Amino acid sequence: MRSIKIKNSPETVCPTKIICLGRNYRKHAEELGNVVPDNPILFFKPPSSLILEGEKIILPPQSQDVQHEVELGVVMGKSGKHIMRPKAAEYILGYCIILDITARDIQQEEKKKGAPWTLAKGFDTFAPVSQIVRKEEIPHPENLSIRLWVNSVLRQDSNTGFMIFGIAEIVEYISSYMTLEAGDIIATGTPEGVGQVKSGDVVEAGIEGIGRVRFEVV
Ligand code: MG
Repeated sequence: MRSIKIKNSPETVCPTKIICLGRNYRKHAEELGNVVPDNPILFFKPPSSLILEGEKIILPPQSQDVQHEVELGVVMGKSGKHIMRPKAAEYILGYCIILDITARDIQQEEKKKGAPWTLAKGFDTFAPVSQIVRKEEIPHPENLSIRLWVNSVLRQDSNTGFMIFGIAEIVEYISSYMTLEAGDIIATGTPEGVGQVKSGDVVEAGIEGIGRVRFEVV
């Protein structure tokens, strides 16, 4: 299993799962022609999809349309179930940048069939992450600029303040169904501006207070 470094610390974490939100920014839901949901839409990425800086996003032969999505990752610090909203912060270790790389053509097929998005979202290298920054260094995680560039061209430019479901609400909702373990990552959804990446592209992503990461696509 992959371990992810905590910034300025010798410590690492090992996620047992990566839980992702779909359609958590209104303008992104609209750009893909989706209705804004009443409750969070959740799916998993397997821990085997994680890569760290210095590794490459590998385009799989099964897809002709792999797309970038930049997201704020919430990293859990201890195990919890039925975590109520006011207690959510106690269970959070920190935050990271996570890219929810998606084979959009496969996802559209899965959607048509009413099937889960497992294959579209779960390829190896489809979850690039940054180091984790402790929550104490990010006092306002719901007001951070979030951006993504492809070959230095700005493609996504938003703020985590536009999330439909807030962090504490998401933690409460997910943990009402399943135990969140220490190290688990919640990818909180992408803002508008998603688009295709091609071999040779360089994807860079930045979230205020967390930093910036760079991944090459091959
Ligand atoms: Mg996403």
